[in-house]
Amino acid sequence: PAPLLSLSGGPAPLLNAPTLRVALPVPLPQWFDYAPPPGQAPHPGMVGRRVRVPFGARELVGVVADIGVVADGGTLRAALDWIDTEPLLAGELWGSLQWLARYTHAPLGEVVSTALPAPLRRGEALPDTHRWGWQLTAAGRDPGTRLRAGTRPQRLATCLAEGVVEEDQLDGVIDDWRTAARALAKRGLVERVALEHQAGPPSTRPGPVPHPEQAAAIAAITATDGFAALLLDGVTGSGKTEVYLQAIVACLARGRQALVLVPEIGLTPQTLSRFRNRLGIPVHVLHSGLNDNERARVWAAAARGEAQVIVGTRSAVFTPLPNAGLIVVDEEHDGSYKQQDGIRYHARDFALVRAKALGVPVVLGSATPSLESLHNAQAGRYAHLRLKVRAGEARPPRVRVLDVRKRPLRDGLSPEVLQGIADHLQAGHQVLVFKNRRGYAPVLLCHDCGWTAPCQRCDAPMTVHAGGRRLQCHHCGARQSAPLACPDCGSLALQPQGIGTERLEEHLLQAFADYPVIRIDRGTTHRRDALETQLAALGDRAGILVGTQILAKGHDLPKLTLVVVVGIDEGLFSADFRASEKLAQQLIQVAGRAGRATDPGEVWLQTHHPGHPLLETLVNGGYHAFAEAELQQREAAGFPPFAHLALLRAEAQQVEHANAMLAAVRALIAEDAAVERYGPMPAPMPRRAGYQRTQLLLSAPSRRPLHAVLDQITPQIHALPQARKVRWSLDVDPTDL
Ligand code: ADP
Ligand code: ZN
Ligand code: ZN
Repeated sequence: PAPLLSLSGGPAPLLNAPTLRVALPVPLPQWFDYAPPPGQAPHPGMVGRRVRVPFGARELVGVVADIGVVADGGTLRAALDWIDTEPLLAGELWGSLQWLARYTHAPLGEVVSTALPAPLRRGEALPDTHRWGWQLTAAGRDPGTRLRAGTRPQRLATCLAEGVVEEDQLDGVIDDWRTAARALAKRGLVERVALEHQAGPPSTRPGPVPHPEQAAAIAAITATDGFAALLLDGVTGSGKTEVYLQAIVACLARGRQALVLVPEIGLTPQTLSRFRNRLGIPVHVLHSGLNDNERARVWAAAARGEAQVIVGTRSAVFTPLPNAGLIVVDEEHDGSYKQQDGIRYHARDFALVRAKALGVPVVLGSATPSLESLHNAQAGRYAHLRLKVRAGEARPPRVRVLDVRKRPLRDGLSPEVLQGIADHLQAGHQVLVFKNRRGYAPVLLCHDCGWTAPCQRCDAPMTVHAGGRRLQCHHCGARQSAPLACPDCGSLALQPQGIGTERLEEHLLQAFADYPVIRIDRGTTHRRDALETQLAALGDRAGILVGTQILAKGHDLPKLTLVVVVGIDEGLFSADFRASEKLAQQLIQVAGRAGRATDPGEVWLQTHHPGHPLLETLVNGGYHAFAEAELQQREAAGFPPFAHLALLRAEAQQVEHANAMLAAVRALIAEDAAVERYGPMPAPMPRRAGYQRTQLLLSAPSRRPLHAVLDQITPQIHALPQARKVRWSLDVDPTDL
């Protein structure tokens, strides 16, 4: 038995001593035992509190996950100090994060650090969320107090003569009022005061009278007592946002918080001002454009129950909701809800888990629901709310498939399309030309020998930019100027091959010189508000928008009457089993941009494969006919949602290392496990940014056996000697295979 006291003065060996079991942000599957900081014995009230601990030579911030006992007298290092006096993570959010760690088979400490805003992750205190104001003290109000006229302190004092003024308001009125306030405070004339959060009913403004389908949907949501998942399946422009707003109003009326998730490109200033105007209370926003402190403040305001409506992108799903009433996931099919690195969570799926734990309704809205959600609705797990008609005056757009086989194409555009664009412009309308490929052309080709410019570090061609002068890899970001001559045969006959948005823009600028042509893709909209600025500059004038799927949502364009879809054919023949679904959703979403106001809209699909079953079903039967057919195919092929997948990815400088690691993982799975194994096999792009990439796919007809296998093998994977030479990750429910 180990002695209870260490004579050397080092860490004391302990016997049956209670310990803190701490989850740390390190890629290791276990929790770490520490003695508590001096002064307190461990007790269950410490769970969920952040604590600073020594880890190797470093200091880390962890969260106490449990109180344990060290049975065998090992030596324990002591935690350094507490960061929180109360648990930062408690209740539902804490429970849900633990669920997420189990479900993704990721270390709890890493899940926690994904969920927390950076300042909290680093161990800073929960930020102040008070609204602050300034007021005059008794001395300041004394008529005997004289301040030199026209100075900033005097203007500030005048400003405060009527009573407390909030800091936000001072910002707009007196520049550098803070210096003045400090000077006056020093003389005891003014003081800073915390303001109460305005409680009471919000001053909501009424919206349009709901049409019958909307009324039914609103009633279904607001009548829900406790958890329910509701799929709000409504065509573009059918009034889904209106349904969210009315459900949120009802939620606020009960004094509860509402969380709304939107895809990154759906969070436009237009959407926000619609929410703010209607709800009449502060709407807290969380998106990637905020700085760390702003994020932490919104998180804290939500944790304190002060933030009543939170609208945010993917990671907003980690917002604490102590007083939850409703969760909305807008555009629930959107791929941006899936995090593709680190903790690979799906925000929609996690929103469902949280809603269930919170006992509140969750509304999944889309014009093109994911096949998973449609399947769940059909199985009766979700209520299926349909909005089949457009709200207001707008009628559905007319869809036309243009067979361009044997037609002369000029920079990818047929004569009919050019004529159609001209007609709509002449009528004073706007036209959207959609092409899901940014850059000038996808490939630079040598016309004499067939050489194409490859990326040196990826198995992919370089995309041509700047009218043919530059090359860029869209996978690793590599850039170079285009060669003047073919490196293989010396020929000068290098030609951009295929069509990208830049090339369309160039052509349209020439063909329609009298009209504005605005290109919108990731090349032109680095900044968050660039899209808004560009669209605002266009206004209601006749003109052309050309761009990628960034244009498929967001800003309302009432003057837009023609949508031309150019070159969808690549998407019709992809190896990814989800490609058809993504293509159909994109087509329907971009088509939905046409004719949202009173002018009727048209959608033209230019294709070499007019008879392709996907197009035929989509055009003749609509999205639901497509989804029905696609679900049948998925079932026959044993793909999700009829199977559950997990994907192990490995990458290394040498492909043998990646393969050896995955072969070792494969060998960990018992032969009789009810899980299919595919691989190790090359990833869809076997080399990216200089790394060789392989993968091992696990598939099971239901979740339980898949997770049983993952539970068993994940700790062993961390211990594999082969794992040291590779970067690896586990993706449960992968969305890009
Ligand atoms: P979605 O979110 O389904 O695209 P919106 O809620 O944005 O649809 O509604 C589309 C347009 O129709 C908006 O301009 C909205 O103000 C209007 N609208 C929605 N519901 C109604 C209604 N019941 N009556 C009249 N107009 C409506
Ligand atoms: Zn050549
Ligand atoms: Zn590359």
